[in-house]
Amino acid sequence: MKMSKMFVQTLREFPSDAEVVSHKMLARAGYIRKLTSGVYNYMPLMWRVLKKVEKIVREEMDKAGAQELLMPFVQPKELWEESGRWEVYGKELMRLRDRHDREMCLGPTHEEVITSIARDVIKSYKQMPVNLYQIQSKFRDEVRPRYGLLRGREFIMKDAYSFDTSEEGLDKEYQNMAEAYKRIFDRCGLDTKMVQSDSGAIGGSVSHEFMVITDTDAGENDVFYCNNCDYSANSNHAVSNLPEAVVDGKAYFAETKIVDTPKTHSIEELSEFLNIPSTLILKSLVYIVDKKPVIALIRADRAVEETKLMNAAGGNDIRIASSAEIAELMAEKGFNAEPGFIGPKGMEDITIIADETVKEMKNFVVGINETDKHLVGANLGKDIPHIEHFADIRLVERGDFCPQCGKPLFVTKGIEVGNIFKLGTKYSKPMNAVYLDENGKTHPYIMGCYGIGISRTAAAAVEAHHDEHGIKWPLSIAPYHVVIVPVNIKDELQMQIATKMYDELLKAGVEVVLDDRDERAGVKFKDADLIGFPYRITAGKTVNEGFVEYKIRETGEIEKVTPQDAVKHIIEAVANIK
Ligand SMILES: [Zn+2]
Repeated sequence: MKMSKMFVQTLREFPSDAEVVSHKMLARAGYIRKLTSGVYNYMPLMWRVLKKVEKIVREEMDKAGAQELLMPFVQPKELWEESGRWEVYGKELMRLRDRHDREMCLGPTHEEVITSIARDVIKSYKQMPVNLYQIQSKFRDEVRPRYGLLRGREFIMKDAYSFDTSEEGLDKEYQNMAEAYKRIFDRCGLDTKMVQSDSGAIGGSVSHEFMVITDTDAGENDVFYCNNCDYSANSNHAVSNLPEAVVDGKAYFAETKIVDTPKTHSIEELSEFLNIPSTLILKSLVYIVDKKPVIALIRADRAVEETKLMNAAGGNDIRIASSAEIAELMAEKGFNAEPGFIGPKGMEDITIIADETVKEMKNFVVGINETDKHLVGANLGKDIPHIEHFADIRLVERGDFCPQCGKPLFVTKGIEVGNIFKLGTKYSKPMNAVYLDENGKTHPYIMGCYGIGISRTAAAAVEAHHDEHGIKWPLSIAPYHVVIVPVNIKDELQMQIATKMYDELLKAGVEVVLDDRDERAGVKFKDADLIGFPYRITAGKTVNEGFVEYKIRETGEIEKVTPQDAVKHIIEAVANIK
């Protein structure tokens, strides 16, 4: 490819709406162009990267025994009603109507479609196990699309679905996919951690996420991990052992009584006023889960993890209640307490969920729905309403200990690029997707699903591989392997040597760009760094002595070598791509 012919426009500045590195770099280097909010054109350079990621994914999925198909982007409402997701999916599901007024949606995922295919085709246990996948655009109508390709509305995804006759079969395929995923991300030049995204304690569904570890702003999830054992989990699902703390207030409170606690709206104010550690305060927080209030009880030095609370409450949607909603709830129950004085008493008819650690608390302090008052020396069972529902709803924090081995947990940021999920019969049962066993009895399929964000993986690669000058693509997914830069295109010898190397590399199957533009060397070097070619060969003044400059983008290393050696190095490097 001649740079003068390349359909690319680099920008002088980062786009003003870009918040994270991959968005900034990909937009500025001409890889993507925004069409509308969260929807991007993949320009020729980007498309080359995406095709390479896809190729790696295809090769490894095929090698793992999965078969590729392609399902439609548009899906009928009826299938989504069968699974029950038409109602629960919410606004992320982009719904539309055709000319006959039939309701449809743009596929955000394809469990319903694949299950409908399976129930038509897989009639017997003899036809399983089978794993089917596709690579396709998906659409999710995110509330706030941002971060470029990392959280767009339209994106390219590989989604796979496995069908088995037993849990053991599913376990085996799950492991098979986990290994394939490790190879895929490794080949893409990405350092990933496979983290639990379910505590496993609740039983049922199990899932793992593959996270690219990055310290950039795009790291959206905290990943807690142990250096002593293999424990690692997303903050949504991480569990921990707590450091020791005073959880019995016996030394502070001789008796159970209501005390005045004027103007103690915050935990800090209350613990200071009573001169007690915050670990002796039981905090009551009001959330709205699926439009209904839920009270979460937790030790006051700790925070609630909202996803855990939502799961414990069996909901699909959660947010903290507004002060107006709290006031309304107070009024409804006949109280008039300001936030800071809320408590579980008198709230018996709404869902109350207490964190597991609350069980250990004794002689503690709790709100009683009366402004400027708290109950001190309180105990479960006796002084507050009976709590039926205990669950782990606590956010793991720095300083907590590994739930497996007790050593300190570490935390880092990660970007999710893939996930694997044991679905079991979640779709096959409601959709009545069944097969006949050896004895002619029907059973629903045991399913798994396995996703990889293709465009997300490419963006995560930029997050993980860049410097202030631009992208440093891993060789395996770079749009081109090497750029040859003649410093002065009017210099005959420079052009002659550059062109000769270009021809030789092309012939050897190397993806090479010749920067034949009549531009200053500085401009060409800047573009080369920004676009992120893994190698750069510069034909400048030293060609007179028989040398060119060979630069490795990743390390910044520069070597003076003969044109033959430069060509040889590149051919070898490309031949060694996994
Ligand atoms: Zn551990």
